[in-house]
Amino acid sequence: RFITFEGGEGVGKSTQVKRLLQNLQNYSIEAVRTREPGGTAKAEAIRSFILQGRSESWGAGAEAVLFAAARLDHVTQLIAPNLRNGTWVISDRFHDSTRAYQGLTGGVDDKLIAGLEVLALDGNTPDLTIVLDMDPEIAFKRVAQRAIEDGLALTGDRFEKEEIEWHKRLREGFLQIARDNPERCVVISAEQAEDVLEATIWEAVSERFPE
Ligand code: C5P
Repeated sequence: RFITFEGGEGVGKSTQVKRLLQNLQNYSIEAVRTREPGGTAKAEAIRSFILQGRSESWGAGAEAVLFAAARLDHVTQLIAPNLRNGTWVISDRFHDSTRAYQGLTGGVDDKLIAGLEVLALDGNTPDLTIVLDMDPEIAFKRVAQRAIEDGLALTGDRFEKEEIEWHKRLREGFLQIARDNPERCVVISAEQAEDVLEATIWEAVSERFPE
């Protein structure tokens, strides 16, 4: 089984990915956790390159190609081999992030996004995609709170770089993707408390894969 988590900035994906992995392991289901951009050494190198802003001036189209290169390695080296073995793969972000960030929000042509997807996924479409949905104003407060607790400067998550309107468009992008792919996507409100959210996700997963 292949499950992906998607959503905007600061919605709490990585916490929930970890908790789902733990819940699966409690049921003796073999599962691995991974993330995008990244997941393999080569893909992580591309992640650093992009997140350091080194491709910023290249434009969203070139970045979409870089994300696809990272994804191709991730799929062929990690995702597909695990799925072939019967190991579940849980990924923090996958191709819907490219649709939302580079496509719907970044303005990259649908045809380029779709073509890259065919190449990079090579048929490995997720069985279930959990879209964590949260009002960006709340997400921003959470990210800020976390930064205070950790004693860190407010960095990353694009909250210091992008306007709130951008985050709202991104949120709408993910909701649009979910509406367009109802057979695979489940939208879950991430505004619930962490434990309640964990239980809601577990319910969605158990419902989808009753075995
Ligand atoms: O989910 P995570 O915070 O690890 O993602 C790292 C960053 O990569 C995000 O802040 C997001 O803005 C960016 N990203 C992107 N396009 C993607 C995937 C992630 O711009 N396709």
